[in-house]
Amino acid sequence: VFGHIKLAPPDPILGTAEAFKKDTHADKVNLGVGAYRTDEAKPYIFKAVKEAEKRILADPTLNKEYLPMRGLDSFNSLARELLLGKGCAAIAENRVATIQCISGTGSLRVGAEFLKVNVNPPAVYVSSPTWGNHLTIFKKAGCIVREYPYWKPETRGIDIEGMLNTLSSAPIGAVILLHVCAHNPTGVDPTPQQWDQIQNVITQKRLIPYFDSAYQGFASGDLERDAYVVRKFVNEGSQCLVSQSFAKNMGLYGERIGALHIICRNKVTAEHVLSQAEIVVRQMYSNPPLHGALIASVILADPALTQSWKVELKAISERIIQMRVRLLEELIKLKVPGDWTHITSQIGMFSYTGLTSQQCENMINKWHCYMLKNGRISMSGINTKNVAYVARAIKHSVDH
Ligand code: PMP
Repeated sequence: VFGHIKLAPPDPILGTAEAFKKDTHADKVNLGVGAYRTDEAKPYIFKAVKEAEKRILADPTLNKEYLPMRGLDSFNSLARELLLGKGCAAIAENRVATIQCISGTGSLRVGAEFLKVNVNPPAVYVSSPTWGNHLTIFKKAGCIVREYPYWKPETRGIDIEGMLNTLSSAPIGAVILLHVCAHNPTGVDPTPQQWDQIQNVITQKRLIPYFDSAYQGFASGDLERDAYVVRKFVNEGSQCLVSQSFAKNMGLYGERIGALHIICRNKVTAEHVLSQAEIVVRQMYSNPPLHGALIASVILADPALTQSWKVELKAISERIIQMRVRLLEELIKLKVPGDWTHITSQIGMFSYTGLTSQQCENMINKWHCYMLKNGRISMSGINTKNVAYVARAIKHSVDH
């Protein structure tokens, strides 16, 4: 019955983690990891999360009953407020349909299915390059996926002309997937002026913006700043979708907690939209898990705990920014050919080094520095102990 089934190719990201685990070399470095690591290369649990869990365990009113299909209501409204801001008119007017989802990936999957069933867009446009799962998630839902140019290798920056041209020729009603901040894999975000231009095309061409918010607060350390573009679109009247993840900014990777927000024209539409999104969930997994939703809502409902979480979040993002500075210093010290200032100008967890796939292979095979073959490295894999080693690996790979 199953004998004909072929071995699936390894996932480029998760496969890198597996290869790193198997390697026994003393100096090995995991630059593929999509999760935060401390300066000791260890996973990090937020103190605010531990405190929330303590309170959850001590609460005699809690139980393990099923959540409704839309998830935990207190989580949904707090998550929405964190994303859109306290004074958001769309929230006050009850026109945001929010559904708790299985982290960012689950939210994108529900969003994609919801769109296919209820809107049937002529195409979904994703950036080239993008996080690989974007393409497969939307294809899996039956959408036609196209790409818009994003990365310009010559400038190691955004190809804004290419992007605007492609969006201008997209059919009415096409969905445009946008990374809210800390674009994965490039680490390059549009400037406010470029967001204005992107918004103009989207509005004029009647396209549907779909924001992926996987790194709010993680990119700059400032939750408000990292939500800039979503709030701008929503406050200026956009109807859009947002997939929100708490994996990175609360370190809740394995708890799988996130949300899908669909910003509608009015309250009645939002109610209808929510009811349809619930049908999608009912047929996929019935209802979402409880524990992560409780953790996030305990933190966000208590101003003191929220504040201590924000302080930790800032410290994390600063360690990453500091590692960018240190890596650049080392590369300059070693006189590695080329301009490496993109290491400090890019933001978020990832840096798109510009290393060719051959150079990446040298990083992996000769230096045991595990990274993606497209040149993406995770800055959180770098620490004060291995930064000089990573720089030497880059130098050897470039000279190679
Ligand atoms: N979107 C982007 C751009 C991401 O980088 C990630 C995580 N790597 C996700 C969504 C989803 O992550 P999760 O499902 O863990 O929330």
